[in-house]
Amino acid sequence: MADPFGFLKYERKDNPFRPVAERIKDWEELQIPLSTEERQTQAARCMNCGIPFCQTGIFYGGKRAVSGCPNDNLIPEWNDFVYRGEFKKAFERLAKTNPLPEMTGRVCPAPCEKGCTEGLNGSGVTIHDNERFIIDHAFENDWVKATGLPAERTDFKIAIVGSGPAGLSAAWRLNQLGHHVTVFEKSDQAGGLLMYGIPNMKLDKQVVMRRIAVMEAVGIKFVLNTEIGVDITADALQKEFDRVIIAAGASVPRDLNVPGRDARGVVFAVDYLTDCTKEVLAGERHSNQKLAGQHVIVIGGGDTGNDCLGSAVRQGAASVTQLEITPQLPSERTTENPWPEYPMVAKIGYGQAEGMFTGNGPLTYYTTSTTEFITEDDRIVGIKTVQVDGKFQAIPGTEKTLKADLVLLAMGFTGVQQSLLETFDVHEIFADYTTDNEKVLVAGDAKRGPSLVIWAIREGRKAAEQIDQQLRALVYQ
Ligand SMILES: Cc1cc2nc3c(=O)[nH]c(=O)nc-3n(C[C@H](O)[C@H](O)[C@H](O)COP(=O)(O)OP(=O)(O)OC[C@H]3O[C@@H](n4cnc5c(N)ncnc54)[C@H](O)[C@@H]3O)c2cc1C
Ligand code: SF4
Repeated sequence: MADPFGFLKYERKDNPFRPVAERIKDWEELQIPLSTEERQTQAARCMNCGIPFCQTGIFYGGKRAVSGCPNDNLIPEWNDFVYRGEFKKAFERLAKTNPLPEMTGRVCPAPCEKGCTEGLNGSGVTIHDNERFIIDHAFENDWVKATGLPAERTDFKIAIVGSGPAGLSAAWRLNQLGHHVTVFEKSDQAGGLLMYGIPNMKLDKQVVMRRIAVMEAVGIKFVLNTEIGVDITADALQKEFDRVIIAAGASVPRDLNVPGRDARGVVFAVDYLTDCTKEVLAGERHSNQKLAGQHVIVIGGGDTGNDCLGSAVRQGAASVTQLEITPQLPSERTTENPWPEYPMVAKIGYGQAEGMFTGNGPLTYYTTSTTEFITEDDRIVGIKTVQVDGKFQAIPGTEKTLKADLVLLAMGFTGVQQSLLETFDVHEIFADYTTDNEKVLVAGDAKRGPSLVIWAIREGRKAAEQIDQQLRALVYQ
């Protein structure tokens, strides 16, 4: 147990965000880690309470958002090791459940902290930042590769379709268990939304590439620029491999079919964010003026929308505006949303803060629906909006027109590409990741719909263990 009185002695201190004025000049990561000593002090705040709500993800009160870690990370145990300076033990404990902690230690919204007992009266332990410290320290000391090496190899071959966090997590676990793993990815880089989706300032792409390099070093094969169902048929894959995991994400974006939708300058958020990352990968790590003089409207008030705002600010947009159809959340927990439920409260995202700082917005309009894209010569020049009531019905007399040179659609995703499941003859996916095709399993966003990196990691790991059990049972038949 860490210092039993730590939470009374020490204030919570997060990894500080770089000042807005500085960070909008580049695409480097937003947060700067604390020193080792400060981190140990933060770990001391974990009191290893009798019932650690932090380490089990539960949908309390029927809420849609989970509280506690969906991946069952052994949080109080690794906090204790950090406090004691036993960093290798902390890493080994973390690696037992999480094969990609450098990703979650940067981008996870930390539902664990929302369930932390200290958060009942205070603000919770800095679990997310502690996790990042442990894995960054492990990479610095070259401890990571050893945890991915199998004790012995089997003859089984597994194909994984998609290299997002679900595919990577499954690949890591299957390889650890001794199986031969090949990951197929249609894009030119591995990582899924970790690579092309989440912007560089939240997760540096070097961090993703570093993990792929370790995965290759422990024996996992990556085949890029290869779309399963197009470049290799489902039949061929099933003939060559003993099992297939479809971890292809929920890539079908929600569209907005209003007049003018086909205008040039109306773009899906992930396509825009992918282009931004490609520029960073090509070596452009400083902000540019690519959107100078342009008015950018982001439709969708979630995290993807926020990533679009931050990216457009870095490209020098004249204004950034965000539209959200639902009402603004309250600033504090309501009585219907008590601890340890996930707090449904308003937050100011980093992109919103940056838009406000530049004075170019964001004007975030809540309860606002888009009714038309205004075009000139097939190019977007503006949009028409209207306020909606609690039933999303238009309120007459609230119509507005906004200028727009670029509109980014960030309204979420509807799910996995059905044609991919069909080509594998998969019509039903079961809770244990198996399907009505005994050779095929499905994990991550492809199974649960658009979600979080840590859910994808959990599902990849669990699907891998399911396959391991199936294949070992075949050996002993
Ligand atoms: C802009 C954005 C920001 C986000 N930010 C966060 C965040 O901060 N924190 C967080 O926890 N979550 C975040 N998320 C959600 C998170 O990224 C996803 O939940 C997670 O990546 C899902 O992982 P996955 O492996 O299931 O799928 P994905 O990451 O979508 O990966 C699927 C991969 O499969 C590949 N693929 C698809 N079809 C084929 C095929 N036929 N053949 C070969 N390859 C194929 C795709 O190219 C892709 O690389 C964000 C999502 C978006 C869109
Ligand atoms: S993965 Fe997310 S929820 Fe789990 S311990 Fe890390 S920050 Fe918390």
